[in-house]
Amino acid sequence: MKRTTGQDRSITATWRPATQAVRGGTWRSEMGETSEALFLTSGFTYDDAATVAARFAGEADGMTYSRVQNPTVAMLEERIALLEGAQACRAQASGMAAMTAALLCQLSAGDHVVAAKAAFGSCRWLVDNLLPRFGIESTTIHAADNAAWEAAIRPNTKVFFFESPANPTMDIVDLDHVCALARAHGIVTVVDNAFATSALQRPLDLGADVVAYSATKMMDGQGRVMAGAICGSADFINNVLMPFQRNTGPTCAPFNAWVVLKGLETLDLRIRRQSENALKVAAFVETRVPRMLYPYLPSHPQHALALKQMSAGGTIFSIDLAGGREQAHALLDALQLIDISNNIGDSRSLMCHPASSTHHGVGPETRADMGVGEGLLRLNIGLEDPDDLIEDLDQALTKAGL
Ligand SMILES: *Cc1c(COP(=O)(O)O)cnc(C)c1O
Repeated sequence: MKRTTGQDRSITATWRPATQAVRGGTWRSEMGETSEALFLTSGFTYDDAATVAARFAGEADGMTYSRVQNPTVAMLEERIALLEGAQACRAQASGMAAMTAALLCQLSAGDHVVAAKAAFGSCRWLVDNLLPRFGIESTTIHAADNAAWEAAIRPNTKVFFFESPANPTMDIVDLDHVCALARAHGIVTVVDNAFATSALQRPLDLGADVVAYSATKMMDGQGRVMAGAICGSADFINNVLMPFQRNTGPTCAPFNAWVVLKGLETLDLRIRRQSENALKVAAFVETRVPRMLYPYLPSHPQHALALKQMSAGGTIFSIDLAGGREQAHALLDALQLIDISNNIGDSRSLMCHPASSTHHGVGPETRADMGVGEGLLRLNIGLEDPDDLIEDLDQALTKAGL
């Protein structure tokens, strides 16, 4: 098993992202396969006992056990690290495994976290329900407000945790400002970059310390497998994350890693086309609904910031209807092409009502606090012809009285 010609990191790191997405991190076995091999093995064998000892002591390279490393997973990790501009990456079993590991690997009782109010439901649950059980305090803030970050800092603040754009309110965090503020106070920023991915926004270039992913979403891109990833400095990944990951086991399955490797080859193409489609569909829908939330439309309150830090608007927009849950459900039930589904990042267009699905678990008060109302709907725009999507939404909006 060896890296393919030119797979020296000093060379691959100079490649442009489109090349890295297709070739970065490829290791070839003695068979010379073109497509990455899938290593479905939990364990590894050794030529002699001394080799085992050297590998366990960290004195020799090589695999020991797939909870710790696996060749297929290692290829994915290297490819994601290259795309993200990170020194290192570790793949995870799911996005939530990644978020949990990225937080718990570095937090201890007595620490304090500042987190964005508006977040994926399970991310908010971690902050509100899991961290306090281990004596970790948190403050949740309106993340679009730069002053709120500074005001929330305490002497024991260890981590800033947020998404940008946020799921499903589409709030944008000023990455330059918030990451510089964190740096100045010795605080570690953990950015959940699921909506944008490295194809549209690279938080590490803007001063973030750690980027955590649901790879289930845009990276797979075709709604097949669960996976996640954590990127950061080699020191953070090897000395902070790895002791936690090795001993708690939120490891990515090799098959899932292989599927995501294939997904990454087309990530840039998909996310750019889907973003174009989303912009076109959102511009149509905006004429029919009271409130549209899409970062690349001028009506978004942080449109200028989105243009500055993202190279396209992404695949997702949200709309807010005046008729509450009843009207939102009526719109979903009238769809003929777009599926009702709480997944995102898929090549299929999908629509969901967060209050009764992804954000059901955080409860009504937290939903109201983060801006997830009863009339809010979130759409993931796929690779279909946008005119078909517009026709479907046109008829569904009419049936829902809009
Ligand atoms: C989906 C999602 C997650 C969780 O990822 P899973 O792969 O479903 O565990 C975390 N953060 C955001 C922003 C997401 O959209």
